[in-house]
Amino acid sequence: MLFGKDAPGENIVVRGARVLDPVQGVDAILDLRVDGGVIAALGTGLDTNAHRIIDAQGLVLAPAFVDPHVHLRTPGREDEETIASGTAAAAAGGYCAILAMPNTDPVVDCAATLGSLVETARAEAEIPVGFLASITKGQAGLELTEMGELAQAGAAGFTDDGVPVTSAALMRRALQYGSVTGRRIALHCEELTLSRDGQMHEGEVSAELGFTAYPSVAESLMVERDLALAAYERQPLHLLHLSAWESVQALRRARAEGVQATAEVTPHHLCRTDEAMRSLDPNLKMNPPLRAASDRTALVEALKDGTITAIATDHAPHARHEKEVPFEAAPFGVTGLETAFAALFTNLVEPGLVPLETILERMSAGPARAYGLDEPRIVVGATANVVLLDLKASYRITDDSFRSRSVNSWLLGETVKGRVRTTIAAGRLVYGA
Ligand SMILES: [Zn+2]
Ligand SMILES: [Zn+2]
Repeated sequence: MLFGKDAPGENIVVRGARVLDPVQGVDAILDLRVDGGVIAALGTGLDTNAHRIIDAQGLVLAPAFVDPHVHLRTPGREDEETIASGTAAAAAGGYCAILAMPNTDPVVDCAATLGSLVETARAEAEIPVGFLASITKGQAGLELTEMGELAQAGAAGFTDDGVPVTSAALMRRALQYGSVTGRRIALHCEELTLSRDGQMHEGEVSAELGFTAYPSVAESLMVERDLALAAYERQPLHLLHLSAWESVQALRRARAEGVQATAEVTPHHLCRTDEAMRSLDPNLKMNPPLRAASDRTALVEALKDGTITAIATDHAPHARHEKEVPFEAAPFGVTGLETAFAALFTNLVEPGLVPLETILERMSAGPARAYGLDEPRIVVGATANVVLLDLKASYRITDDSFRSRSVNSWLLGETVKGRVRTTIAAGRLVYGA
């Protein structure tokens, strides 16, 4: 389900890092030796065997991250992102695997389009990448794609992200067919007759600023419908980018009743509220919108108690000329691959809101599990998928901070703490040294 360059694994020794793998229960100062891309030894004073040596004193070595929600804009908008640039950005963000969304031009709705992406990934991807295919042809919401064929061709899952599946009947059939493929159905939950292309969250701030607004209930109503269908069909599903307190409540209830639902949340929804919209910065305009403080608190709590098991960037690159327009005219979406860890460390870990271990797990094992991917683990015998983090580094995010072809980051101009120093993905050094 993941595709990348077929390059040999490397020989590397990482010296003296604080090895932190919350899933394995490891937290100790250790050396790590990678032989041919595979973790061969974990211990103290390891023989370096003429391997490349990385001095990691003072750094944290953790399982590398998995981003289950990235827009690579390929095919169709290669001026905004490509497989090469998007995976390079992901490597710089500490990721060892990402999943790309199918709302491209053309939509990834047939085996031929998927096949050419797989081919490009094998030639250009800096880290392994998986591709979701659409649930409906052209994401038009009228007719299901050939899900079996797409799964055979390597689709990592199915989604119409960008838009909801408006027909409940079609949604029900997608769950039935999805179960046959064994791939996850992932849903962008939005009741369009309520959200009406709203510019921001419906609340005090939107009332003050006088913008058309997208109420929380437009998300949670669709979340409730989809959870009800999943319960009825006894099928699993994955909820994309939850933003509202009511959605979290619905998910918690459904999971308690045995529904196999997983969900993700973005760094921006975990770190900011609609108060930030007063700046009218188009780089804060996204769908779903930043919501109220009570929503943010509910998302943080859900992340901590495991109701939400995955953090996803929803990295959505846009051309400069498209975002440098008045707020109302700007498209929805912000980038996030390169800044996710720093944003979460700065806004959640440093103030003591969420433990570092929880953030690491929800950025790595959690999202991998949601899609049935191998969980990155720091254990002898596993493929080396690790990230080195400098928790003391403090720096400013600028236009030059990005490998992505787009710079529409909600963190531009801000000073953050926590820097990705090195990423080893699929046994190869893909970022830093
Ligand atoms: Zn979406
Ligand atoms: Zn998206």
